[in-house]
Amino acid sequence: MIPYLSQPMIPLIDIHTHHGSSTADVIAVRNWDFDAMPVGISSIGVHPWQSVTINTDVDFISKSMKQVETKCRMPQVVMIGETGLDALRGADMNTQKQLFLKHIALSEQLKKPLVIHCVKAVEELLSIRNQQHPTQQWIIHGYRKNAQLGKQLLQQGIALSFGLHSDAEAMKAAYVANALWLETDDSEANIVDVYQMASERLSISVEELKLNIYQRAVLLSSLFRLE
Ligand SMILES: [Zn+2]
Repeated sequence: MIPYLSQPMIPLIDIHTHHGSSTADVIAVRNWDFDAMPVGISSIGVHPWQSVTINTDVDFISKSMKQVETKCRMPQVVMIGETGLDALRGADMNTQKQLFLKHIALSEQLKKPLVIHCVKAVEELLSIRNQQHPTQQWIIHGYRKNAQLGKQLLQQGIALSFGLHSDAEAMKAAYVANALWLETDDSEANIVDVYQMASERLSISVEELKLNIYQRAVLLSSLFRLE
């Protein structure tokens, strides 16, 4: 059963939020910490920043992933993450890679896309992608870097998600590549304003943009698995 399709109104999609929840007009993918209980349309994973816990608890990876594995199977969890690599925060890169690989395996096994936090670790991310050959969509969320790097990621088949503060040219590149998502993340921004900003930058109407993102979301069938 695919909900929303029968509705004449096309919803806005907030692909990554720590505060928002879905309404009649908005599908919000709410992100939860691994130890929380996901409510509503959700994503859940171990944030790379949390990997630092390994310094005080050597079993952190197995303990936290046990929780993630159980919760990721829940039907309301439509994406795995946020997960990823952060060269500026969290545990050492090897530990972060171990955690990331476990999320990738889960994403492939459960056929749910991956929402990725990536800070100053694009090379590591791409080398892991080239080794793993994932079939599920990878979305780098909160993309704020330039179009040049953005195009490199898009060429590798990675989608980009943008908030209010992002590079207009990178956003255009993602739109052209049919790989653009919008989000509010942990900000107080309203997803309506993010759509408004993006439509101005892309010189298209909000309605056109809504349809564009909605059509992509329909292809990510896991988003629509809920009754
Ligand atoms: Zn986030």
